[in-house]
Amino acid sequence: MTIFSKIINREIPAKIVFENDELLAFRDINPIAPVHILVIPKKPLPNLSAAEEGDCLLLGRLLQAATIVAEQEGIAETGYRTVINNGDDGGQTVDHLHLHLIGGKPLGWPPFTERMKHG
Ligand code: AMP
Repeated sequence: MTIFSKIINREIPAKIVFENDELLAFRDINPIAPVHILVIPKKPLPNLSAAEEGDCLLLGRLLQAATIVAEQEGIAETGYRTVINNGDDGGQTVDHLHLHLIGGKPLGWPPFTERMKHG
């Protein structure tokens, strides 16, 4: 079970900003911008690659929820970025599909940075 499943089950706390039967959105614990929210499906898909044909509607609703939360957060007009990190090279650290909603300041592009090598 991932940390995000524990958030869904209310086993660990999170600052939840949106919820419906299929989806949950909560503030990232380590925000990289004034608004940094994670939108996740309650279905524990490990990543985007694991999504199948039958998940297409769920993926659409994930994106739609991001637009709803962006409205709630007051960044729909100023703009924002949505990001899904997938797998190791994609920088994914939690194996439960999640969409980052990031905004509240002008964001640079391209966003890529070399991962720090330790040791
Ligand atoms: P990723 O690197 O795309 O897998 O993103 C995982 C995100 O989850 C990171 O931005 C973390 O800061 C965030 N995160 C990890 N644990 C928690 C938590 N307990 N509550 C909220 N966000 C978390």
